[in-house]
Amino acid sequence: MDCIFCKIANGQIPSKKIYEDEKVIAFHDISPEAPIHFLVIPKDHIQSVNEISEENANIISHIFLVINKLVRELNIEKTGYRVVNNCGKDGGQSVNHIHFHVLGQRELKWPPG
Ligand code: AMP
Ligand code: ZN
Repeated sequence: MDCIFCKIANGQIPSKKIYEDEKVIAFHDISPEAPIHFLVIPKDHIQSVNEISEENANIISHIFLVINKLVRELNIEKTGYRVVNNCGKDGGQSVNHIHFHVLGQRELKWPPG
């Protein structure tokens, strides 16, 4: 499948990887919007939140456990951070492989644009 994040997950495209296990991979965003900006993705191709079902929903809790571990390692668990998922056109999703952004080490504005 011609999916850039599947290619990152299987090593066909290089990334600045910060974590990997059998189910997920985390890597620095190529175009960071904060001093810390990484993405966590499942290795399996799931398009978006629209494709979460009873069958695959456990990957989401796993992703949040990985985020919990990584924010501690990066020392932003106390200062705070933002976890973002963009879904579809109006959500601003540009890569159609579900991913969670984690942004930190600066004060983020709210609401988003
Ligand atoms: P979204 O707009 O929510 O779909 O987010 C896609 C994110 O993927 C953007 O923040 C991009 O900067 C990032 N991105 C695209 N290609 C790569 C890549 N090859 N390596 C790392 N991050 C990427
Ligand atoms: Zn994919």
